[in-house]
Amino acid sequence: MQPLTEPEIRAAFVNCTKGEAKRMHVPRDLGTRPWDDLDFLGWRDPQALDRAYLVAVLDGRPTGLALRRPSPGPGQQRRNMCSVCLTNPAGGVSLMVARKAGKAGQQGNSVGIYLCDDLACSLYVRGRKDAGPGARLPESLTQEEKITRTVAHLTAFVTRVTT
Ligand SMILES: [Zn+2]
Repeated sequence: MQPLTEPEIRAAFVNCTKGEAKRMHVPRDLGTRPWDDLDFLGWRDPQALDRAYLVAVLDGRPTGLALRRPSPGPGQQRRNMCSVCLTNPAGGVSLMVARKAGKAGQQGNSVGIYLCDDLACSLYVRGRKDAGPGARLPESLTQEEKITRTVAHLTAFVTRVTT
């Protein structure tokens, strides 16, 4: 994806208030992120472990989603495969919940997805980050096909939040 600046990132959020977008934690190392290998920019708030964010480019426009990571209740089964990149990373997979954009969100509607805890899906798919032994199932797809599938899963999620 094209590198994004901090103001572009803050302006991209569709499911939180302008104030929240202004105050949220944005990574300070944007200049050194491996943009060429990213299908989306994802990060966790180091001050608030239940918060995560992602920005994807949809129809040429950066679209940001604020995510909540509810802690799993007792006895709740842990799922271990990311629904976006189909990896089972050593760092774990979490249910992340996005408030829907617009009126639906104001009425309390949200959409959940299982995502790599570190939101490094793009790097796992490209083999740029080691997800640990047995983290990815052997597949006959090319890397290009896996990337296309990852983008399709992500786009479907972002679309569910924004429509
Ligand atoms: Zn993933």
